[in-house]
Amino acid sequence: MSVTAPGAGDATVIRPTVVEVSLARLTENLRAIETVVAPAAVMPIVKANAYGHGLVEVARHLVAQGARRLGVAFLEEAVALREAGVALPILVMGGILGNQIPLFLRHGLTLTASSVDKLRQIDAAARDLGVSARVHLKIDTGMERIGVHYYNAHGLLEQAAECRHTVVEGIYSHFANADAADLASARLQLARFLDVLQWYDKHGAAPPLRHMANSGAILQLRESHLDLVRPGILLYGVYPSAEVRRTIPVRPALAWKSRVVYFKVVTPGHPVSYGSTWQSDHPVRMVTVPVGYGDGYFRALSNIARVIIRGKKYPVVGRVCMDQIMVNIEWETAYNGDEVVLLGAAGDETITCEDVAGWAGTIPYEVLTNINTRVPRLYV
Ligand SMILES: *Cc1c(COP(=O)(O)O)cnc(C)c1O
Repeated sequence: MSVTAPGAGDATVIRPTVVEVSLARLTENLRAIETVVAPAAVMPIVKANAYGHGLVEVARHLVAQGARRLGVAFLEEAVALREAGVALPILVMGGILGNQIPLFLRHGLTLTASSVDKLRQIDAAARDLGVSARVHLKIDTGMERIGVHYYNAHGLLEQAAECRHTVVEGIYSHFANADAADLASARLQLARFLDVLQWYDKHGAAPPLRHMANSGAILQLRESHLDLVRPGILLYGVYPSAEVRRTIPVRPALAWKSRVVYFKVVTPGHPVSYGSTWQSDHPVRMVTVPVGYGDGYFRALSNIARVIIRGKKYPVVGRVCMDQIMVNIEWETAYNGDEVVLLGAAGDETITCEDVAGWAGTIPYEVLTNINTRVPRLYV
């Protein structure tokens, strides 16, 4: 068991609020995905602090489990991995600025070339530094985010063939609707991408690594697996939407827990927390838990969320504060030090990422990535 927390020895003594990450679950989920997509390879996506699970620890674990490359969103995430000693190929999928290119090259990171102009800048910077740049070309087939439009893509492929200081290792696109029940839009995007790839056939060239599938497409669109798939949320054991077909069994790797730090009886006429939004019409027992929106427990969960204490679910009452929440246990029992499960299972009860997302009016992705670095991660 290992803990990472800002400046902490035994972080759980300093802070009873922790995120527990099951590395075994991550492995199981990775294997389940690998089995279904083979012979396509898997590039785990570890952006946004590995969806809240902890960038460096998760990356190291995945590498130890055989991952051959990783994907992140931003340069600084990739640099953090290099500084932690992660040496394998890392694709940075986000848009880049010209002045970032030398840093990419010095760290041996894989760049996304999302326009002819950016590709030229990458090639020129590689020439100036006397190195070879490694890129993946980005084709926009319908997301309208970054990448060359599919109907203009040949210019990028031709430019890539002329670059002398750049190795084109991959070519990719991204789905806007692969987690929907209706896959018409995703199929159209895939057809556009396959059409762009015809260029290689016509020029008698072998295409570089072709990839497009995020979690939704991994689950629902086998034809999109191509050479490589890019699972994010599925790897962490959460499905990307309510309607997606759950064709691969995965289980959550993350639990969020805290402990009771205060107990009191609250009587009628004495409303709870900021804004006095909740009060009881009869005496109730109330416990205070040291977690709040300053940790990423959404303020929108006020008066809506439930937590598990001693195997039972109880409501969060009053406003969520920056650092504390109050829980109404009616006339049941709880003691200082009792475990409080915000997300995860205890006894026969479970609170899922989907539950929390539903209560807060958001999606599971935001629940996970919102748990901030003030919360120590505990690897079990
Ligand atoms: C975030 C991201 C992914 C992973 O998406 P999931 O839905 O979490 O699987 C894949 N590709 C790109 C380009 C992304 O930005």
